[in-house]
Amino acid sequence: AVARTPFIAGNWKMNLDHLQAIAFVQKLAWSLADAKHDFADAEVAVFPPFTDLRSVQTLVVADTLPVAYGAQDVSAHDSGAYTGEISGAFLAQLGCRYVIIGHSERRTLHHETDADVNRKVLAAQRHGIVPVLCVGETAEDLEAHGASAVPVAQLRAALEGVDGSKELVIAYEPVWAIGSGQAATPAQAEQVAAALRGVVAEVFDDETAKATRILYGGSVKAANIAAFMREPNVDGALVGGASLDIDEFSSIARFS
Ligand code: PEP
Repeated sequence: AVARTPFIAGNWKMNLDHLQAIAFVQKLAWSLADAKHDFADAEVAVFPPFTDLRSVQTLVVADTLPVAYGAQDVSAHDSGAYTGEISGAFLAQLGCRYVIIGHSERRTLHHETDADVNRKVLAAQRHGIVPVLCVGETAEDLEAHGASAVPVAQLRAALEGVDGSKELVIAYEPVWAIGSGQAATPAQAEQVAAALRGVVAEVFDDETAKATRILYGGSVKAANIAAFMREPNVDGALVGGASLDIDEFSSIARFS
């Protein structure tokens, strides 16, 4: 992961209201600044609920905090009669640099298909937002097909018609590892990350594959982040539960 900037992303899921979000981001920025002597120059981003984004934007922009932010989902459509949906145009106006797309909770609980995920990747890119595209196999997939087959197929489907010159972040999140306390081993994460990088090379080219950041997600915490970061194809982490604890999350951002 030499030439790629490490990326530590916190997916808050449906936690922290807009006031809690402001307090959290302030403390996080403080904690990262405090740790400057050994801070590993990772890019750090938080993914709050939609209703927090304006508050986070105001804080981050006014105080030029070294924290990026993004949304947890985006509509495949740009505007119109889609009650309850949020357009990429709105997210772009709020300064979102990133958006999580295809998280396993969206795929499972909201029945998002590979085709939906693909349309959302295209929508994000239309508005200049970098997708953090999540792929990963369930325990049953792992048993039946091994670790790589399902994430590789999900990635191929998500990249249909996508412009390879636009930045994309990929998060490999084995579903069995999310929120379970049972992380993949660094070797397992590396194996799938390498396979996913191979898909990017095949669909686009080697240069794009070399530039694309691939994260691991699933029960990442301060105690295991360093081992993942040592893997050559793992460029960072998408963190759920542990991203809600400032000390834990800023330790993860320092890989320690
Ligand atoms: C996630 O939901 O993206 C995730 C990785 O969760 P956790 O870190 O809690 O396993």
